[in-house]
Amino acid sequence: MIALAEHTLDELSEAVQKLGEQKYRAKQLMRHIAAYDSFDEYTDIPKSLIAKLKECYLDRALTEQTRVTASDGAVRYLFRTADGDLIESVFLPHDYGNSVCVSCQVGCGMGCTFCASGHYGLQRNLTAGEILSQVLYIARDKRSEGGVNKIVMMGSGEPLANYDNTLKFLRLVNAEYGLNIGMRSISLSTCGLPDGIRALYRDGITCTLSLSLHAATDEKRKKIMRIAEKYTVKQLIAALAEYFRVTGRRVVIEYILIGGFNDGESDASALKNLLKGLCCHVNLIPLNKTEYCDLNAPSKKRAYAFCEKLNGLGVSASVRRSMGSDVAGACGQLKNRTFEQAEHTE
Ligand code: SAH
Repeated sequence: MIALAEHTLDELSEAVQKLGEQKYRAKQLMRHIAAYDSFDEYTDIPKSLIAKLKECYLDRALTEQTRVTASDGAVRYLFRTADGDLIESVFLPHDYGNSVCVSCQVGCGMGCTFCASGHYGLQRNLTAGEILSQVLYIARDKRSEGGVNKIVMMGSGEPLANYDNTLKFLRLVNAEYGLNIGMRSISLSTCGLPDGIRALYRDGITCTLSLSLHAATDEKRKKIMRIAEKYTVKQLIAALAEYFRVTGRRVVIEYILIGGFNDGESDASALKNLLKGLCCHVNLIPLNKTEYCDLNAPSKKRAYAFCEKLNGLGVSASVRRSMGSDVAGACGQLKNRTFEQAEHTE
C-alpha cells in the first residue's frame, strides 16, 4: 500500500476515475492530503469512496515517534515510515518564517567522514510522498505558529542520489494544489554529483542550490569526502556555473570549518581562486561535533577571521548560525536512530 501523498493531481485524477469516481474528487482529496488529514477528517468525501481508498492507500505515510525541542526553538522530529524505518526532520523557526529540514534517504551512502547520517551507510531511498509527508506533518503541527514557509533538503541522505523521488517531491511541494512553496524558498544541498546538478535545471528546477564543497582542492577534499574520488572540484564548479547560467540563481557554497584543516590563510586563497567568476555566496559552517569523528571546529574568533579574510579577497561569505545542536538536530547530526534524549520527549 502506498500513501495518497505519493500522487500528483494528474495521477490522483486517473486513480479516482479507475475507482469509478468523478475526476473532480481528486481536487477535494488533494486538499485533505495537503492538510495531512486522516481518513476520518475527509468529511466532504462519500463514505463509499473512502472505503475504496482504504483498500489501496494509506492516509498518512509517517507517524511521529518522538520529538525534542532545542533551546533555540528548533524541533527535531523522529518519524516512523509505514514499513518501520526511522527518519528525522527538523523544524527551524526564524523571524522571517519557518523552515523545515527534510531527509531524503534512510541513512546515506556518501560516507563523508564528518557526518553522522552516513555512519551506518544507506538503508534505502525515501519515496517522494515520504519526503513530502515530513513537511505536511510539521506544517499541520505548527499551523498555529504560521506553518512552513521554507524547505531545506539538508537532512539525512543525498538528494541527487535519489533523483527521481527528489524531483517529484520538489514538484509536489511547489504545486499550487500542494503547499505551493516557491522555488526561491527551497534549498537543495548536494555533496556534488555533476550529472544530478545538470538534470535539475534540465527538469526545470530553479531552487537555491548548495554545494557541500568543504575543501578547495581535490587533495584535501579526498581526505574528508569519498565522493571527491569520483569528481573534481573543477567539474563541480563547472556544473554550478551552468546551473547559474540557466536558472539565474546565485548558488551557495557550503564550507564546514574544521580547525587546523581547512581554515588557514592558504585555504582562503585557494577558495578564492577556485570560485573566481562564479556567482555564489559562501556559507561557513563551524563543524558540529558528532560521536563518530574526532575533528573539531575552530574557535569562534578563527571562524570569523576566515570569513573576513574571504570578504577581503572579494568573496561573499558569512558564518552560518547553527540551530538545534543541543538536541543533535544540526547539520550532520541526524542519523535515523532513536533518540538518546528520549526522556525529553514532549
Ligand atoms: N547530502 C547533502 C545534504 C545533507 S547535509 C550534502 O552533502 O550536501 C547538509 C549540510 O550539512 C552539508 O553541507 C553537510 O556537508 C553539512 N554537514 C555534515 N556534517 C556536518 C557536521 N558535522 N558539521 C557541520 N556541517 C555538517
